[in-house]
Amino acid sequence: MRLTILRVVTKEKLKMFCPIVLLLIVALSTASDRWDPDGQVQYSPGSACIVLSAPHGGRQRPDWISDRRAVGCETADGDCRWNATCPGSSCRALLYGDPNTREIATAVRDYLTEDGLRPHLIANHMDRMKMDPNRGGPTLSEGIQCDPAAKRVYDSYHGFVRQAVDAVRRSCRGRGLLLDIHGQHHPQNWTEIGYLLRKSQLNSGQYPAASTSIRGLVGRSSRDSASSLSARKFIIGDRSFGSLLNSFGYRVVPSASVPAPETGGYYSGGFITRQYGSLTGGEFDSMQVEITQAVMYASEAERDRFSRHLAATIGLFARANGYA
Ligand SMILES: [Zn+2]
Repeated sequence: MRLTILRVVTKEKLKMFCPIVLLLIVALSTASDRWDPDGQVQYSPGSACIVLSAPHGGRQRPDWISDRRAVGCETADGDCRWNATCPGSSCRALLYGDPNTREIATAVRDYLTEDGLRPHLIANHMDRMKMDPNRGGPTLSEGIQCDPAAKRVYDSYHGFVRQAVDAVRRSCRGRGLLLDIHGQHHPQNWTEIGYLLRKSQLNSGQYPAASTSIRGLVGRSSRDSASSLSARKFIIGDRSFGSLLNSFGYRVVPSASVPAPETGGYYSGGFITRQYGSLTGGEFDSMQVEITQAVMYASEAERDRFSRHLAATIGLFARANGYA
């Protein structure tokens, strides 16, 4: 009750002093933002146990980095040479970004801040045509394609994500949640939540907790964290992230209403979700949010509405699951 009253009072005050408060927020946020030396990656530190990452929403195409190539030459050991063409087997890279996802992630940050949960935000301003931070390990060469300048910006992106994750771990008893924000063009017009479970696993109703990026959360909440049932409620239960977002009127997979993609398009989670979540242990969880094209290309007002609902979903999920 006290919290509700406080929120109402705060809202009323905000209305009265809105222009001043807004200017102050903008000034503070600009002052605290950090940038990489090349001016391509922006890190806005937060204070909540939440990290937002927007790797594919950039539009800058500086000429000091060469364009990535869509096709490379596969070597005998399975790697790719991106500066060569070959008549035999080739490997392919995705070059096109996720329009408006940086703006959506920024709006989500602002709505969460209004709700008292200011998340950390790492936003890539560089176009995916030049560098892809969501590649790494065996696919690193696809992301930077042998360009030392691309590698420098790539390292800056991951350096900031690591800083944010470490800051959250220190202040949130080792816990935290990273949401890697993307957009996709699958014709089903649904938003996809990726926990690293493959489409075939979701289709057959298998939810092995140890193979997910929310392994820490499942372990905290269940005595038998190895059981498929223990992860099921977080992935397709009524209070799962997908079901919470669905309650605002969006089609989401997986969720209680659409538990599995079946034959539809689905991204299960990329390098960032794999690298920073709890798949390999710990209590810092992650998930990939792949926003439907119907929102990505919607009017600014529609995108803002979705951002408000995504922020509300994150707030509900964070408060219910020990990230706040
Ligand atoms: Zn993407």
